[in-house]
Amino acid sequence: MYATKEYYDPERCRACRGKCCAIYLPIEKGGSYPSGWTWVDEWFENWFEAFEDSGAASCGIEPLFDPYDLLFDEDRSAHTEVYILGGDPGYCQYWRYDVGCLLPRKYRPPGCREYRCADWLRDLQQANAI
Ligand code: SF4
Ligand code: SF4
Repeated sequence: MYATKEYYDPERCRACRGKCCAIYLPIEKGGSYPSGWTWVDEWFENWFEAFEDSGAASCGIEPLFDPYDLLFDEDRSAHTEVYILGGDPGYCQYWRYDVGCLLPRKYRPPGCREYRCADWLRDLQQANAI
């Protein structure tokens, strides 16, 4: 496992409810998934790998869904299940509406712990300019 520099502002991220966790929502809809059918397997696998490496997959916290189950969900029943559990098919399987990330911080992939969104960076820039 690697970690460069981590950033943590729980108050900010709690208030936002984790918009950056929309990892299965296309970029043009505000998520981070690079649209295009050919990418989807690779995108899923990269995240599965990240969850393995970070310990998330074996820490005892069950993800709310498996993104593969949502791919051919013609009657939308699997999607409905996710919403009933408090998740969102466009968000990470470890994200729940009421709490954000379900994982203790130490089990989140390094990319999640190192990330700061554009709003956060802008606020820092403005604070440093004062
Ligand atoms: S990094 Fe930004 S988008 Fe992500 S949870 Fe925190 S405030 Fe929200
Ligand atoms: S592991 Fe947690 S912080 Fe990372 S994308 Fe999933 S819900 Fe968000």
